[in-house]
Parts: sequence; structure tokens; C-alpha cells
Amino acid sequence: MSGIEGKVIAVTGASSGIGEATALLLAERGAKVVLGARRSDRIEALAARIAGAGGEAVPVRTDVKRRADLSRLVATARERYGALDVLVGNAGISPISALDDLRVEEWEEMIDVNLKGVLYGIAAALPVFRAQGSGHFVTTLSTAGLRISPLMAVYAGTKNAVRAICEGLRQEAGDALRVTTVSPGFTRTELADSITDPDAKSEIQAGMDEIAMPPDAIARAIAFAIEQPAGIDVGEIVVRPTAQS
Ligand code: NDP
Repeated sequence: MSGIEGKVIAVTGASSGIGEATALLLAERGAKVVLGARRSDRIEALAARIAGAGGEAVPVRTDVKRRADLSRLVATARERYGALDVLVGNAGISPISALDDLRVEEWEEMIDVNLKGVLYGIAAALPVFRAQGSGHFVTTLSTAGLRISPLMAVYAGTKNAVRAICEGLRQEAGDALRVTTVSPGFTRTELADSITDPDAKSEIQAGMDEIAMPPDAIARAIAFAIEQPAGIDVGEIVVRPTAQS
């Protein structure tokens, strides 16, 4: 039995890209997956696909900007499968732009989704993990947080704030909980769709077209962290295309 088989794993941002690839891989390896995202049609179709392949999945419409939605995601895991073993806090947006452009609403949106959305996930899952005496937080960060570049200041800021929160969580967690962050480099997903600044969008799109990895490269890294035996905590993983500087 692998360290994934039978685990109950909730994934936010499961409707596309990295979250979708992660849910598929984990379900293939025997996890019961709870799929969170706003686009219900996508997560319903994904759940049907997983069930069609003999796996277990339940879709839960989730907007990570709403604390109650995260509570419902976690509650559904427990009602349907009796526990929550792992929360993959993966939902994110990157409407990047130059600070001079003052796209303040987009800054706020990134803070709400990328930062507060992860905190709401922690608020929903932490008491459950404490009551169970075990649990694992896996959170998607970004290489944009490791090497700050123009246009990325606010996006990188949200990811680095989450890095600090995850490290604090790890230190407070004690030996019962595991905390993992995964920082992807360029990955071929729908992430650039949220960029409204045309110059920023074409720059990122060029990177995506030239060097991006398929999202299952990140799914495998997440699976690696989850499948470790209890007592082994994979702290931080960075996965880049080799061509990324
Ligand atoms: P996608 O745009 O393909 O996926 C983003 C996911 O986040 C979607 O499932 C979307 O679902 C979900 N999401 C967005 N807003 C919300 C919300 N308010 N509530 C719930 N879900 C939401 O991009 P990726 O797969 O690339 O992104 C996944 C993570 O990976 C993000 O955190 C991103 O920052 C990170 N990342 C991506 C990189 C890349 O190059 N692609 C590089 C580094 C990090 P829906 O719209 O249905 O709600």
C-alpha cells in the first residue's frame, strides 16, 4: 500500500492546471479526492472522469475568498470519507503588472485569493488535523517568490507571505502535522489568463510557450511529499524547467 492509497485529500484550484493534474494523479494512486474550485462544471466533469476510471472524487464548489466555502470543503471530506488527511492549498491567480500602473484592485484580488485563501484553508483544516492527531498541509508557492522580477512584486509578495505563514505553521505544528511548500517554475496552465496588462501577458505567455513544464511535473512533486511515511516531512520543493533562469 502506497502512502497515498486511501488518504482523503482536498485540493483547491482543482478545476485546471496544477490542481487538476494533482487531483488526477492522487486519485490514480488511490486517494479519495475532494475537488474545490469555483467552476463547478469543470470539477464535476473531473469527478466523473475519476469515478469512470474507478477512483473516488467529490466536487465541492469553493471560492477561497469565502471562509465558509473552505469550511464546507473540509466538512464534505469528513462527511463523505470520514477524515481529511491532506489539504493541498493550490488555488491562485497572477494578474501581474508594474506597480506604477496602480492596478490596486488586482493587488487586492491576489491578496484575497493567494494569501487569505490559504489562511482560510488553514483555519478550516487545522482544528480537524489537531482532533485527528495527524494532517498534512501542502501549499503551492512560486519560483517568482524566490527570484523577484519586475511586474511580479505583489504576486511574489503574496507567495512569500504564505511561505512565512507555512514556516510558522510548521514550527507550531509539533510532530503530528506535516507542512510542505511546492514552488513551481513556468508551468503550462491557464494562469496567464488572469493578466489584464497586455505587455505583462505577452511576456508571460512567451515564457509559457517557450519553456513551460506540463502540470503533472508539479503533481508528481506533491505526490512525493504526500507518499512519505508518517514522521517524514518534505519541507520545500522547487521544480523548474531546466531552461528557466
Ligand atoms: P490555473 O489558472 O490553471 O489554475 C488556477 C486554479 O485556481 C483554478 O483551478 C481556479 O479555479 C483556481 N482559483 C482561482 N481563483 C479562485 C478562487 N477565488 N477560489 C477558488 N479557486 C480559485 O493556474 P495554475 O494551475 O498554474 O495555478 C495553480 C497554482 O500554481 C497557483 O497558486 C499559482 O500561483 C501557482 N503557480 C503557477 C505557476 C505557473 O507557471 N503556472 C508557476 C508558479 C506557481 P476556478 O477559476 O474554477 O475557481
